Amino acid sequence: MGKAIAIFNQKGGVGKTTTNINLAACLAIEGKKVLVLDIDPQGNTTSGLGVSKKNLDVTMYELLLDDDVDPAKAVLHTSVKGLDLIPANVQLAGAEVELVEIEGREMRLKRAMDQLKKDYDYIFIDCPPSLGLLTINSLTAVDSVLIPIQCEFYALEGVSQLVSTIEIVKKNLNRDLEVQGVILSMFDGRTKLSIQVVEEVKKYFGDKVYTTVIPRNVRLAEAPGFGMPIAQYDPRSTGARAYTAFAKEFLSLEEENNGK
Ligand code: ATP
Ligand code: MG
Repeated sequence: MGKAIAIFNQKGGVGKTTTNINLAACLAIEGKKVLVLDIDPQGNTTSGLGVSKKNLDVTMYELLLDDDVDPAKAVLHTSVKGLDLIPANVQLAGAEVELVEIEGREMRLKRAMDQLKKDYDYIFIDCPPSLGLLTINSLTAVDSVLIPIQCEFYALEGVSQLVSTIEIVKKNLNRDLEVQGVILSMFDGRTKLSIQVVEEVKKYFGDKVYTTVIPRNVRLAEAPGFGMPIAQYDPRSTGARAYTAFAKEFLSLEEENNGK
């Protein structure tokens, strides 16, 4: 059985999608079977993995709202061997409203997840920047949460709300939910600010913070425009090296924890 991880921070533009695409791709390159679920109506993970958001057949929308959809039917292969995707597009914005009427509305994704887990080592969910039902469905369906935090002035703003959301879901919907880790993104070693943010985040989250830090690297911002993870777009870039190092750190911590 695989492990499901939501990449979550209700703050916009902190590197959720970039981390999702590139960690998932690097883990697939390391030989893991990985599935990425796009549950953001922006569909950035979908397009970033080279899948057109138009003319999609079965998407996250159907998976959440249609009882008769077989989750396996929503799975698409990507150009990275071992990396699959369940896509999303703007239609998913309607689900946020439509779900309200449905019984067990917080558990819709969990149903599908239980079926998907047997085919993968890791399943990642790219959450939208909100605390609505799409996010709640994600946090209810996963084993753990990976939190990207951007190295910027307001980095810790909203973090207490993020943590309390996790606690609320834990209490009411998903007892076993854990924090997988915290990954610092868009680090700029030339600025004092970036260094201060790293220190502050470490004070708050302690040893949950990964040693690997993702630097600001323009190649990471370019890659989604070409529908490729950084490991394909520019494997020698500092961004590619950082995500490869992160994937390795992620796996070695997983092995350590599984061995316990
Ligand atoms: P949203 O909340 O809108 O879903 P997000 O948290 O998923 O945003 P991303 O889309 O991953 O954030 O990143 C925001 C922007 O910053 C994007 O344009 C992305 O290409 C760029 N970006 C992300 N990480 C880096 C990085 N390490 N270096 C340079 N640019 C980056
Ligand atoms: Mg995103």
